[in-house]
Amino acid sequence: MKNLILLIILALISLKILSQNDTIFATIDLKNIKNDRVNVELNFKPHKLSHAKEVIFYFPISIPGTYDDLEYSKYVNNFKVYNKNNDSLEYKKKTLKDWVFVADNNEIIKIGKNRSKEYYYIPTNAKRIKYSVDDAYDIGSAITRNFIPEANIFEKNKVFQINWGAILGSFIINNRSIYKITVIKPNGLYGATILKKEVINDTLDILYSNNYDDLISKPVFYTKPDTTTFTINNYNFEVTVFSENGIKYSNIIANSIKPLIKEASNTYLKGLIPEKYIFMYYFSNVLDEGALEHTTSSMYFLSAVDTSAIKSSIIDVTAHEFLHILTPLTVRSEKIANSKLYAPYTSKHLWLYEGVTDYFSYQLLLQTKDISPNWFLGDMALNYKDVLKKVSMTKMSENVYDKKWNKKYDLVYSKGTITAFCLDLEIYKLTNGKYRLYDILMKLKEKYTNKPFIDNKFINEFISITHKKELNVFFDKYIVGKEELPVQQYFNKIGCNYKLQIDTIKYVSTELGNDLFFDGSKISIKPNKKHYKELKGGKIINVVSINGDKNVLSNYNNLWSLKDGDYIEYMYKGEVEKLIIKTANVTTITKKYEFVKVNNPSERQKKLFKEFLNYKYDMN
Ligand SMILES: [Zn+2]
Repeated sequence: MKNLILLIILALISLKILSQNDTIFATIDLKNIKNDRVNVELNFKPHKLSHAKEVIFYFPISIPGTYDDLEYSKYVNNFKVYNKNNDSLEYKKKTLKDWVFVADNNEIIKIGKNRSKEYYYIPTNAKRIKYSVDDAYDIGSAITRNFIPEANIFEKNKVFQINWGAILGSFIINNRSIYKITVIKPNGLYGATILKKEVINDTLDILYSNNYDDLISKPVFYTKPDTTTFTINNYNFEVTVFSENGIKYSNIIANSIKPLIKEASNTYLKGLIPEKYIFMYYFSNVLDEGALEHTTSSMYFLSAVDTSAIKSSIIDVTAHEFLHILTPLTVRSEKIANSKLYAPYTSKHLWLYEGVTDYFSYQLLLQTKDISPNWFLGDMALNYKDVLKKVSMTKMSENVYDKKWNKKYDLVYSKGTITAFCLDLEIYKLTNGKYRLYDILMKLKEKYTNKPFIDNKFINEFISITHKKELNVFFDKYIVGKEELPVQQYFNKIGCNYKLQIDTIKYVSTELGNDLFFDGSKISIKPNKKHYKELKGGKIINVVSINGDKNVLSNYNNLWSLKDGDYIEYMYKGEVEKLIIKTANVTTITKKYEFVKVNNPSERQKKLFKEFLNYKYDMN
């Protein structure tokens, strides 16, 4: 640990001395790929350092908008380093755990515990680096090796989703280098990106970036063109789509999101929208879903659905990612603004970046009538069980790279969204309706468009805008503290109560476990712990027949109706093994919360319902 700290301090000192903007010339070959591996080559000026014989080459631990260790280096193979005479050079690959980092202001930053991070210590006379990179997801597979919007997908001649951090590394020492990237690509694929792009010919593009941070914020999406462009308030938008089911979605998506973009550009994001913004959608056949925001684009990995259902499947997640332009991409802490890709700092305010953004996305869609009050209330009911978890939002946020705390990260969406709604109601109550949460964020936007706020002072500043000191009680109890939010009380203000529904479901289990996986042409089933032992197999077994029928893929539904004495065959260490089914009757009780309207609402409840949900109380 100590050595690394020293090296990084040295690196930072020399960064100040060497402020030249060298160019890193990169080549990535998307045309000649084997087994979904892309070859990468980097050429650069050797580092002339008097104090060190090595420089650190790294792949980002985390990128903006993600709050997790992305483990990008696990995708890198055959890493080789050369000098100017093309001689292969020795380098060291170090894996560090539990390390700390000294920030620019000499503050000691602790990065998460029990996370392994790999760095390459490269001789200073190195001039060239070559390696190949794996991707994180394959069409037809049920398994993803990462949260996909921050990872790469390479599908020969079909689609390349490129997040630069997962393919091109950088040197800690000159993070300001310009990147000139030559992309060798299959003919017929169009590259959607905000990066400056020069199309040389059908199979050659050159991309330019001012520095590594800039590169990371501008992913590229190469697909057969399914692209729709449009203009709103003089801003240019592009929707680029790849779908595994071959459906062209871009036009229908563009039409679906125009109203929310228009509304946001006149309100939440007024003055913040970039000249050009790209929405990049990947529709897969797996259930894993996610999306990631950048300042000038957003990336979506969603399940493919029928065109009639496309709007409802993309609308809320699109509103959420787009509104991130407000926070944390504009209104943000100095911890976020100064964060390093090789050592991410943490801010206390994920409740703002994610919780408030998510709540605003509902508000925006209620404004545009893209969603109904019941949609909002239904989602809040799903969030409700997480409100019961006694976790301090600021503490979780501060420690988010720590494995133990990272497990609680998803609370920023569930508990965070419902907390933002209650905060909105609290601000309204304390200011007698003069302010809403929206107004506070608009004031913060005015002040912090061009500079970050101080992390530790933010809550006080937020409260001072409302001129109501009493608001600190809400923050102390429910955002900094871990007291249970009185959700019932807040929802009652808009004439709603929550109701606990108990469902009893009786079903027959195969005792095999219920998780099904597609793996190419095979179906896998993940056995439960008991059977894991019995099967002696790996954690996932490939089912090769169901009662002797080898058409597993087309008959996989039969797995759910297996009876006593039926059997499946599966592969284990190259041998076919047989498993006789023993069934068990299982009864489960599920608790479900619902928000329902009260019987005799007061005029005030009706008024607040209309003000907060933008629909009349008697509408669903
Ligand atoms: Zn988000």
